Amino acid sequence: MDESERLEILTEASRRRTFAIISHPDAGKTTLTEKFLLYAGAIAEAGAVKARTGRRDTRSDWMAMEQERGISVTSTALQFEYRGAWINLLDTPGHRDFSEDTYRVLTAVDAVVMVLDTAKGIETQTLKLFEVCRSLGLPMLTYLNKFDRPGKAPLELLDEIEDKIGVRPTPMTWPVGIPGEFRGVIDRVTGVFTRFERSVRGRTMATEVPLDASVAAAEEGPAWENAVDECALLEAVGATHDQASFLSGKTSPLFVGSAMNNFGVRALLDAVVDLVPSPSPRRSIDGELRPLDAPLAGFVFKIQANMDPSHRDHVAFVRICSGRFVRGVTLTHAVTGRTFSTKYASSLFGADRSTIEVAYPGDVVGLVNAGELRIGDALYARNPVVFPSFPQFAPEIFRRVRVKDPGRAKQFRRGLEQLEREGVLQVLYELDGDPLPVLAAVGEMQFEVFHYRMEHEFGAVVEFLPTPYRVARVISSDGAALLGRIPGVRVLRRGDDTLLVLFESQVRLQTVERDHPEVDFGMLLGSG
Ligand code: GDP
Repeated sequence: MDESERLEILTEASRRRTFAIISHPDAGKTTLTEKFLLYAGAIAEAGAVKARTGRRDTRSDWMAMEQERGISVTSTALQFEYRGAWINLLDTPGHRDFSEDTYRVLTAVDAVVMVLDTAKGIETQTLKLFEVCRSLGLPMLTYLNKFDRPGKAPLELLDEIEDKIGVRPTPMTWPVGIPGEFRGVIDRVTGVFTRFERSVRGRTMATEVPLDASVAAAEEGPAWENAVDECALLEAVGATHDQASFLSGKTSPLFVGSAMNNFGVRALLDAVVDLVPSPSPRRSIDGELRPLDAPLAGFVFKIQANMDPSHRDHVAFVRICSGRFVRGVTLTHAVTGRTFSTKYASSLFGADRSTIEVAYPGDVVGLVNAGELRIGDALYARNPVVFPSFPQFAPEIFRRVRVKDPGRAKQFRRGLEQLEREGVLQVLYELDGDPLPVLAAVGEMQFEVFHYRMEHEFGAVVEFLPTPYRVARVISSDGAALLGRIPGVRVLRRGDDTLLVLFESQVRLQTVERDHPEVDFGMLLGSG
């Protein structure tokens, strides 16, 4: 690689900001995403994203389910430019039921924006999501949305965030007026007041007029005084932004606004550019950091099949970690050593695809028809690299599955293999005995998705049968030989050959652990 190419890669990487928005359903993630596009000039008027959703042309039935249920279950990568930065916004599934999909997307971002509904705060169903961000050490920006409506007192919300997820919010802006009687915000650094003004249905950018403190004090009276007092309190307790503690995931710069009314959107987007870190070298499995300007490498964080029903396709989403990707480059698949061409690389936003020509660290490339790839797999152009595999979540729901019509056994097997590869859920097989596989998942939703896709994409209607299992651990083959004979304990093999031991209850696990101190039970994420 010559010096100019190296410089180009480092320069391009340094202007990348790759992040995801996480939120509880209905907190305003879609609205905020659209407003980001509006403020970045990528769309002229808000309303466009919703309009796209209404179109039915190239969407698969799978997406029809997404529409029927009003949830986003597929990930999209969105790229736009703002203030000279290239922003990659990765969508995360927004359903209540936490699934491993979201987690995998989070391994591919450098920061997250957490959107909270001011009236609801941190909702328990999505708590796991926020915990995952913390466990990954992801820097997090917080946006308190829907401040135009009645809700919880902001100081109370700060405590709630800190108590529930262990990240300390450091407000960058502070509200004047209570939720529902929102007057505007004080910028905690400059002391300038920006008044909240409703725009016509939020279609175009809000005019944000800064007013100095004396004008604000005269016009806003007690609401202003109260806000100034609260700011002094925040100062006194040290709830003030510090870039190092933000980067280490200990504190979270917080913004107050209303996405629907475009308020606070610009400040948040500015913070994405100013505070979110650009991509940094990724650690490979041998512990070395692979420099950004090393030859091209990336890893698969999401696989999605059958997005286009007119031809069965298979897209592997790769996050570029080092080097420069140019469409057509030949990549090597680290696991199999096979090479393949990237003639059909694309960037993706919803169902709209556009061909991607060049990409840099932090960018996401969709590789079409990369059927062999699995989640976590590394790809490289020249110097081989393997990235550490993603920790897997401890499944909590275990069900046997069988195809209703035995004549569809072939379709069933094909679907099982495909959906396992995509990581829709984990597929476990008995070492001997029952030929029906056991499906293991973190959330109920994964079973619904499996059922739906089996029927609509593979033509195999399946049914689930209950199992008594509730807890799983990873185990070695020695441990498996020892425990396999204990009643109420069962060892199964996962598709990737990992052995899992299943227990009927947490209590059962604890007694077995006590009785067999010689056995090492591997932890799974979320099993603590
Ligand atoms: P998502 O499920 O997190 O993507 O949430 P949406 O963006 O679809 O928003 C859910 C609902 O909340 C929609 O009806 C929005 O119009 C509404 N909403 C979003 N932002 C605001 C806001 O700032 N104020 C109010 N009052 N409603 C909002």
